Amino acid sequence: MSTSVEIIEVSPRDGIQNEDTLLSTEAKLALIERAVAAGAARIEVTSFVNPKRVPQMADADAVAAGLPEAETRYIGLALNKKGFERCCAAGLDEANYVVVASDTFCQRNQGMKTEDSLRIFTECVAVAPEKTDVGVTIAASFGCPFEGEVSLSRLMDVVERCAEAGPHEIALADTIGVATPRDIAERVGAVRAAFPDMPIRLHLHNTRNTGIANAWAGIEAGVTALDSSFGGVGGCPFAPRATGNIATEDLLYMLDRAGVQTGMSLDASIEAAQWLEQQLGKTVPGMVMKAGVFPQAANA
Ligand code: ZN
Repeated sequence: MSTSVEIIEVSPRDGIQNEDTLLSTEAKLALIERAVAAGAARIEVTSFVNPKRVPQMADADAVAAGLPEAETRYIGLALNKKGFERCCAAGLDEANYVVVASDTFCQRNQGMKTEDSLRIFTECVAVAPEKTDVGVTIAASFGCPFEGEVSLSRLMDVVERCAEAGPHEIALADTIGVATPRDIAERVGAVRAAFPDMPIRLHLHNTRNTGIANAWAGIEAGVTALDSSFGGVGGCPFAPRATGNIATEDLLYMLDRAGVQTGMSLDASIEAAQWLEQQLGKTVPGMVMKAGVFPQAANA
């Protein structure tokens, strides 16, 4: 099992895109500064989507323009060609393009079938500026909110098409939080067997309380990166009943105690989660931020 894993802080994007409370650009940048200070290697800072459909992300360009100078790599999300071009033009280090493994959800999420989304992704990789890394997230990799089960063979067809385009990384997303550790082992194992050199990232929602177990299963199965969000905030506006991501500080607590290196500070992440909770004006799902670390003395 790997002794280190990269954490990608996604609260500025996934975390607040589904909230009633709209954070100001200034507050988003303050959140990003906290993620940088906590030691996140990469941060998903915004998504370049239609502001009419996702008003929480209407200031994507302003957020991109205000990012602090840091070693941290900044990622922008895109669901179509226009979003991808905006992301590249904004000068972010990485564009994360989303395809959806099921047609119905792909249609609801980005107004096209999976096949069209794969074709556009291939075009995007081909025209990306040299300085922009291009990754891909396959949403609904473990199940679809409309079609139900997504078969392994269907997923692997999509993975193959994505891999052919030449991304630097493939992320499997459990968008609606239905996966169990057995599913993670099976699907990550299948992708690794087919593409041994492709870095694999996992994006996990904790909708059915399997998120942290799935993260562990992912590390055992050989993923190189895990997405998480301060306080466990998050959700998808186009997936019914979608709830938050795994909480960064809960994940760090588990990994720190298990000796898995992340380069992130648990204490700084707890502070960031508490700060974000205040900004949103409601209780967030994270648990370690409420229970405190253990042992206390190490933190005194
Ligand atoms: Zn998500």
